[in-house]
Amino acid sequence: MAVSGSTGLSATYDLFRRLPVMVSLADAAKDGPPPDPRLRCGVGDWIRSLDAAEQVAARQLLDDVEWNDSALARQFISAGMPLRMNALSVHRRGACSCLLLRKQ
Ligand SMILES: [Zn+2]
Repeated sequence: MAVSGSTGLSATYDLFRRLPVMVSLADAAKDGPPPDPRLRCGVGDWIRSLDAAEQVAARQLLDDVEWNDSALARQFISAGMPLRMNALSVHRRGACSCLLLRKQ
């Protein structure tokens, strides 16, 4: 029995037997790996600390494929982001905990 919890991870495990619940590989391939809720995302935290207009601009830049990770990291760092490109790359490809925040 799948338990519908508040996190993406708990939904994929049977909490009584602690065994993975059978999910289709097609669904897994489509959904991608679950984000790790233990990892706070500094990029997400920084973006949420900005004023509303800057948050909108930051999200537009993140979605703009013409900005590669290196150029975008330099731009964000010049705007005060206290992180390096690697953190930005993780955030940009959705491998951080921000995905869970968006689902809440
Ligand atoms: Zn993030």
